Amino acid sequence: MGLRVFNTMGMRKEEFVPLREGEVRIYACGPTVYDFIHIGNARAFVVADVIRRYLEYKGFRVIFVSNITDIDDKMIRRSQEMGLSLQQLGEIYSDAYFEDISALNIKKPNISPRATQHIPEIIEAIRKLIEKGYAYQVDGDVYFDVTKFEGYGKLSGNKMEALEMGARIEVNPKKRNPADFALWKAQKEGEPGWHSPWGWGRPGWHIECSTMAMKYLGETIDIHMGGKDLIFPHHENEIAQAEALTGKTFARYWLHNEWLTVEGEKMSKSLGNFITVRDALKMYSPQVLRFFLISAHYRSPVDFNKENLRVAKTNFERITNSLERLLSLKERAEKKGDEDALLLEVKEAKKRFEEAMDDDFNTPLAIAAIFDIVKAINTYADRNSEIESSVKNEVYEIMKTLMEGILGIRVEVERKDAGQALLVNSLVELILEIRHEMRRRKDWKMADEIRERLQALGFIIEDTPQGTKWRLRRE
Ligand SMILES: [Zn+2]
Repeated sequence: MGLRVFNTMGMRKEEFVPLREGEVRIYACGPTVYDFIHIGNARAFVVADVIRRYLEYKGFRVIFVSNITDIDDKMIRRSQEMGLSLQQLGEIYSDAYFEDISALNIKKPNISPRATQHIPEIIEAIRKLIEKGYAYQVDGDVYFDVTKFEGYGKLSGNKMEALEMGARIEVNPKKRNPADFALWKAQKEGEPGWHSPWGWGRPGWHIECSTMAMKYLGETIDIHMGGKDLIFPHHENEIAQAEALTGKTFARYWLHNEWLTVEGEKMSKSLGNFITVRDALKMYSPQVLRFFLISAHYRSPVDFNKENLRVAKTNFERITNSLERLLSLKERAEKKGDEDALLLEVKEAKKRFEEAMDDDFNTPLAIAAIFDIVKAINTYADRNSEIESSVKNEVYEIMKTLMEGILGIRVEVERKDAGQALLVNSLVELILEIRHEMRRRKDWKMADEIRERLQALGFIIEDTPQGTKWRLRRE
C-alpha cells in the first residue's frame, strides 16, 4: 500500500499522489526571526523534517522551501526595543535559527527565502489582485476582499458569517468587509517601508508566503505544512491570494501539526513557560529532544514535562544499548547461531515501520517497530556471543537507516563505540601476536604474564589447537 496522508483540506486521509512523478514540492511556514525559536516551533520543524526524510527514503526527489519572515509587527517592535535595524535583527535571529535547526539535526531547506528580498514580486502579486478585482486600495493600505473569492473558508471550515462576526471585534473602517485582510500596509511613523504604487509601506504576512511559495515551487505545490495555529487565518488567506491569481489549486495536501504544551499549559511569554530550543538543549541532548518530539503522532498534542522527557531518554538509551550489544558481538565468517531468525525478525519489523510511516507518518507506531528490533537484538545477544559479519552489518545498517536516516536521531555514540571496539579488537590481536611470538621463543614466563594481565582487564584468553582465542568477559 502506498502513502496516505491526512489532508486538512477535506479533513480526511487520502492517498498521496504528487503532481509530478517522482518529485514532491513542499512549502513549510518558517520562523519570524525576532527571537530564538522555541520548542513549539521545533516540533513543527522536526515533524516537517521527518516527513521530508521519509519521502526521500521512499525515493522521491523532494524540494523543500521554508521561508524566513523578516518583516512584520513583531520584527518592527523588537528592532525598536533592541535599537537595531530590521536587517540587523533579522540576521542575528536567522543565524540563530539555522544553528538551532542544525543542532536538532533538521535538514536545511533547499531554499529559505526572506520576505524582504521579495518585495518586487509581492508588489506585483498585489497589483494583479487589484487588477483582477480581488483587492482594493484605501489610503495606502491594500486589502483582499474575501467576498470576491468564492472558496474563502474552505480550509478552516469557517463560514463567512462566523468570520465576519469574529472580525468585528477589531473594527477597521477602511475595510469593505470585516473579514478582509491586509496585503499591503501603509508606512507608519518610524517604521521601515518600501516604495510601491500605493505609496511607502510594507507587505502583509500572508502575501509573503503565497508569493514565495509560487515563485520557487510553481502555481500548484504538493504539500503545504505548518502548525495548526496557522490554518486560520494564515493558510486560508494564502489560498485566497494564490488561487485568486492563478485559478489553480494552490496546495494539494495541507498538513498541520498539533500543539506542544508545557506542563499542560499553552506556551506563552506571558505565562513565563516559554522554552527556547537553546534552553531545552541545555537540559536534554538533541537526540532525546527529537525522540520526545516525535514520540507522539504529529496530529496529537504533546506535552513537554519532566516525566515525558525522562521516558524519551530511557527509551532512547534502550535503543543505543541494544546497538552497543550488537556491535560488541564478535564477528565470525559463517552463521552458526540464531542469525536467520534475527534477520527475519528485523526485516519484518522494518516492514512494520514502513507501514506505520505510510499511514500518515505514524511515528509512535514506527518507534514501536524499532523496539521490536531492539528486542530481537537483545534476545540474540542473550544467547550468542558471536555473529556472522554480514548479518551484524545488515541489522546495524537497518537500525541506522530507520533511526538516523528517517527519524533523524543520530546514534553516533554507537558509531564511536564501534570504532573503539574495532580499535580494541586490533590491539588485543596485536598483543596476542606478540605473545604468540614469545611462546615460539619459549619465553613462557612473559607469555603467561601477558595472559594474566589481559585476564585482569576482563579478557578471557584460551589457547586452543587452532590458535589463541579471546573474548570479553560478560558481566
Ligand atoms: Zn506562511
